[in-house]
Order: sequence, then structure tokens, then C-alpha cells
Amino acid sequence: MLISDLFKKKKSLYSFEIFPPKPSADISSVAGTIEKLAALAPDYISVTCSAGGTGNARTAEIAKLIRQNGVEPLAHLTCIHASKADISRTLAELSESGIANVLALRGDRIEGAAESADFAHASDLVRFIGQWGGGKFDIAGACYPEGHPESPDLLDDIRNLKKKVDAGVTHLNTQLFFDNEDFFRFRDMIALAGIEVPVQAGIMPLVKKAHIDRIIALSGAKIPAKISRMIARFYDRPEALMDAGIAYAVSQIADLLSAGVAGIHLYVMNNTYVAERITESVRGILKAVNKD
Ligand code: FAD
Repeated sequence: MLISDLFKKKKSLYSFEIFPPKPSADISSVAGTIEKLAALAPDYISVTCSAGGTGNARTAEIAKLIRQNGVEPLAHLTCIHASKADISRTLAELSESGIANVLALRGDRIEGAAESADFAHASDLVRFIGQWGGGKFDIAGACYPEGHPESPDLLDDIRNLKKKVDAGVTHLNTQLFFDNEDFFRFRDMIALAGIEVPVQAGIMPLVKKAHIDRIIALSGAKIPAKISRMIARFYDRPEALMDAGIAYAVSQIADLLSAGVAGIHLYVMNNTYVAERITESVRGILKAVNKD
């Protein structure tokens, strides 16, 4: 099933994102995670890839595993260190396995690695996938409610986002954010820029101190006072941090669904316990918005 068709059927989608295990670990180590997430009946599960060319192969394997569990996979595909031949190989593998949904990304640069001679921006990859597949792939793209860190400002980033959507993107998934007002402002701005594809809000529950340090540093997301207080108070209290982080994510999701968001994409970091608790808390809201 193409994800663009799911958007036509439902008011708000609900999906999860997972990452592949370390190269040294067996692929089967994520089998249990996928099984548990599949039992929560998401609309799809996306699987990330590394920015190096080799990451894409594992992603395809895991996408297959997701499909075997009866859930639609969305395979991430990066291009900044890949050639057309590398991407063609991955697309062929995905196509042979009946996987039709891909998230086309530039990827973050790996220091010291040679940059692709074929792809400079995600929009180049979007165009290539469209031509290669002759329309058989549904192509999603990434977007940034607070602007991409490399962009001089949000407007400049939105101008580039328009080029990416025009190249053939059918839906967008956002970078994580913690202040819904940033998302609402972004949604208005892209509508004014003529971007009409559905936008799913990316929600990252902050539930572990190791994640908090990394995520805040890497994403550059603005931290609202409510979260700063939560971190200051519970940083060294794992149980309390887990409860508070889940409660914050649930309240963000409830507000977004109340405001008619096209979907929630939950960055579950392969943590099925967090996925279960959040899904349990928002199931009734999702049911209500999809019956409107
Ligand atoms: P682009 O759309 O190419 O944008 C990158 C920058 O270039 C922006 O500043 C943009 O404004 C600018 N730009 C774009 N087009 C043009 C143009 N034509 N001319 C001038 N400037 C331009 N990374 C991974 O390695 N693996 C993953 O699995 C992964 N999954 C992600 C999932 C989501 C939902 C998100 C939001 C991000 C993900 N990332 C992942 C991170 C992503 O790879 C980085 O944020 C990367 O720096 C940008 O990728 P992009 O596809 O958004 O790039």
C-alpha cells in the first residue's frame, strides 16, 4: 500500500520510526522489536539508514522484516555519499521485495568521506528515484519546523523544500520539535509557499538521560521551559523521567491531533515500552479524529 493512498483514506496517520542494529549485531536482534510494534497496528513503520552508502542495504533488509510482520515499511535512503549505481542497487532490492515507500534524504555528511558526484540535495535523489522507478515508488521527504541547521533562515529552507516537493515528494515527515507552536507556524508558512502535501509531525519522547544529551545537541531543537524543568528535576531519576517524558509527548500529540495534523510519526528509538504506553494513551484520540 502506498502511504499517499493511506493519507487519502485517513485524516491522521500514526507511525513509528526505528533504526537498524549495529553492523556487528544480527539483523534478527530487531525482530522482536518489530513484532511488538506491529501489534500496536501503526499505519507504517519507517527504518533509518546511515549516511554512508552501506547503511542502505541493512535498511532494505529491515524493511522486508517489517513487511513480513504485516505492516507497511517506509525505507529511508540517503545519497550524500552514494552514487547512482549504489542507489539503483538499493531501489532494485526494495522493488524486488515489494517495498514501494521510500524517504529520500540527503543525509548528514560523514567527515572525511568523499561526497557524491551524483547527488547534492535530497531533491536530486527524489528526481532520480522518480525516473528510476517510473512512478512505482511513493517518495517522502524530511522537513524542519525550526529550519534546517544549515539554512540561513526558515524562509530560505522553505524555498528549498518547495523544490524538493515539486521534484516528486508526496508527503513530509518533520524533524522532532518540542513546541507545537513552531509546527503550527511552519504549517502556515509552507501552505503560503504553495506546499500542499500532507505533513506528519515527528515526536520524540524524551525519556532517558543518554538520549536527552544526544538529541538536544544533534537536533538543535528549541527546548521549552516545561522540558527544561522536567530535565532539571528528573535527570537522575530514571522512572520519573520516563513518566514525565511520556506525559509530555502524549500532551504534544493530543494537541496536534486536536489541531488536525495529518499524522504523528513517533521516534520510538526501538523502545517498545515507550511506544506501547504512548499508543495506549492516544488510541481513543486517533479513533475519534479518523471517524470525523
Ligand atoms: P535537503 O532537503 O537536501 O536539505 C539540506 C539543506 O540543503 C537544507 O538547509 C536545505 O535548505 C538545503 N537545500 C536543499 N535543496 C537545496 C537547493 N536546491 N539549493 C540550495 N540549498 C538546498 N539522516 C540519516 O543519515 N539517516 C536517516 O535515516 C535520517 N532520517 C531522517 C528522517 C527525518 C524525518 C528527518 C527530518 C531527518 C532525517 N535524517 C536522517 C537527517 C537528515 O539526513 C539531515 O537533516 C540532513 O542534514 C538533511 O537531509 P535532507 O534530506 O533534509 O536534505
